[in-house]
Amino acid sequence: MTHQTSATPRTIAFIGAGNMASAIFGGMIEAGYPADRIIATARSRDTLEALEQRYGVTTTQDNADAVARADVIVLGVKPQMMHDVCQALAPAVQERKPLVISVAAGITCDSLERWLGGELAIIRCMPNTPSLVGVGASGLYATSRVTDEQRALMDEMLTAVGIVEWVEEEGLLEAVTGISGSGPAYFFLFIEALEAAGIELGLDAETARRLAIQTGRGAAQMAFTSEHEPAELRRRVCSPNGTTERAINSFEGDGLREMVSRAAKASSARAAELA
Ligand code: NAP
Repeated sequence: MTHQTSATPRTIAFIGAGNMASAIFGGMIEAGYPADRIIATARSRDTLEALEQRYGVTTTQDNADAVARADVIVLGVKPQMMHDVCQALAPAVQERKPLVISVAAGITCDSLERWLGGELAIIRCMPNTPSLVGVGASGLYATSRVTDEQRALMDEMLTAVGIVEWVEEEGLLEAVTGISGSGPAYFFLFIEALEAAGIELGLDAETARRLAIQTGRGAAQMAFTSEHEPAELRRRVCSPNGTTERAINSFEGDGLREMVSRAAKASSARAAELA
């Protein structure tokens, strides 16, 4: 990771350093961000000791103390905890005025700003679980107080664990939720279904699972690296009147596209309900 955005790397406090937050700073450290510029907080000493050992970051159970030392804070607690955590942090945040980043599903920038005492630069981020293995897809929205330099810092932080897409309206984070936030589960379901089909066709469970997983992985890798769009890659696997064409016709006849569209819209609508 390069640090064109600032001569001195920013001190970043991760408030609630659980799975998602530690995936992000773990990726940043692996990409070269200095661990001594990262402060992680959690409730339990055990969680913090594990993070210190694994990543060499500074840790504390005192959220306000972490904020007092930070240029950027990343709120990584569960959505239902966010109101109480923010209210307790408001004095320290108002004193320091850091860039505030939230990865919590469904909590709006307006709510965060109100709970934290007002007038802040806030970025909302919808990451997904493949960030844990460095292949995440995050959607980001910034409020008007966020500077170009802060956006660049955010890009730098999150590209360490995957790709980053900015949206210009906060409501579009609900669309991001329906596609990439919930999306990993859609692909897991497809892998499960393919594995089950393999077993029905006579393969043993282990073989069916390995073939299904590797096929998903290979297809995603091809789609990611190829100069051709996914539809073209699909057509190239389908020889006329061949085996794949039969399967694809079966999917199309059964309405796979409509099913995917309904599922993504259902996720997105649920995200809107939670906001
Ligand atoms: P998690 O692993 O349970 O992490 C939450 C962390 O917050 C834990 O380490 C917990 O500490 C800490 N914590 C709880 N209360 C705290 C407090 N008062 N002060 C400081 N730390 C506190 O949860 P997660 O899966 O990473 O999810 C975190 C956020 O990411 C959620 O808001 C979620 O909406 C968002 N998100 C997650 C995903 C995902 O796929 N996981 C995707 C998109 C967005 P202890 O360990 O000590 O209890």
